[in-house]
Amino acid sequence: MRGFRRLATNTRCKCGHVNSRSPQHVVVVGGGVAGAAAAHRLRMLRPDLAVTVLEGSSRIGGKLAVAEVGGVVTDVGAEAILARRPEGVDLARASGLDGDLVHPATTSASLWTRGSMRPLPRSLMGVPPDVRSLAAVVSRAGLARAALDGVLPPRALAPDEDVSVGALVEERLGREVVDRLVEPMLGGVYAGHARELSARAAVPQLVAKLDGRHSLTGAAAAVMLASGRERSDPREMASATAGGPVFAGLVGASVGSRVRHSLRPASPSRPAPWCVA
Ligand SMILES: Cc1cc2nc3c(=O)[nH]c(=O)nc-3n(C[C@H](O)[C@H](O)[C@H](O)COP(=O)(O)OP(=O)(O)OC[C@H]3O[C@@H](n4cnc5c(N)ncnc54)[C@H](O)[C@@H]3O)c2cc1C
Repeated sequence: MRGFRRLATNTRCKCGHVNSRSPQHVVVVGGGVAGAAAAHRLRMLRPDLAVTVLEGSSRIGGKLAVAEVGGVVTDVGAEAILARRPEGVDLARASGLDGDLVHPATTSASLWTRGSMRPLPRSLMGVPPDVRSLAAVVSRAGLARAALDGVLPPRALAPDEDVSVGALVEERLGREVVDRLVEPMLGGVYAGHARELSARAAVPQLVAKLDGRHSLTGAAAAVMLASGRERSDPREMASATAGGPVFAGLVGASVGSRVRHSLRPASPSRPAPWCVA
């Protein structure tokens, strides 16, 4: 969501207007799932408000999208929510998607590498807790290089130091682990490149363990142990069978918000009786 502001009774907004009456109309800019959820929350808290979602493109959903790939209609953006936490599932239920929620049949994933499908090693964003688990996906030379992680002096990041995830993993485990594991994982989740993503932003829990006492794999193992994520349960994830954009659409529609497409608000150049911040 971009540019949402709550205007209370008799408050002065940034552009100088005193709102002497209760707010009547709130504009949410952006019709991705965050904007839809914000509209939903607003209407739950303040049913007296009119809520309009302005979406710059021709469709609602943002990064939630479906497309036909090889004749199969499939999600091409986010496809699952974390069911371990209640927020996403509750929102789906409140939007009428309850019966459409499904859990994956398995949490195992495979990687097409070196000419075949191979089980994806357990990892924290591509960083394995145990170097031996890499045997199926990296070459022998790559495995030997990764094993240096246990021999190199433990890594510590100074409080004001940051480094890209790719550089950190390459330094400790070698280039192959970045290219075959970290890049596919982070590329999918953050739509970015491992060598351009800040380690502090993308894997803060891992960085927190780099206190000069752990190898990188040791830090990943410690994080996974502490979070109880050594084993994953398929019920921890949920997807809406109806597909990505439908979720955002239903969330918005379920609260009666108006959605206006292909509209990008400009900053008001002169005082107006409304504010879009
Ligand atoms: C390939 C991929 C897979 C992912 N998989 C998962 C997953 O499985 N589970 C998960 O939880 N997350 C996943 N994510 C992340 C998740 O999709 C995003 O975090 C989430 O969808 C972002 O929602 P949003 O509403 O914040 O932003 P967006 O979806 O980007 O929506 C922003 C909307 O605002 C509109 N907009 C922007 N500027 C303006 C403007 N000035 N005026 C009007 N409209 C504007 C845009 O057109 C867009 O529709 C994935 C992301 C990607 C790319």
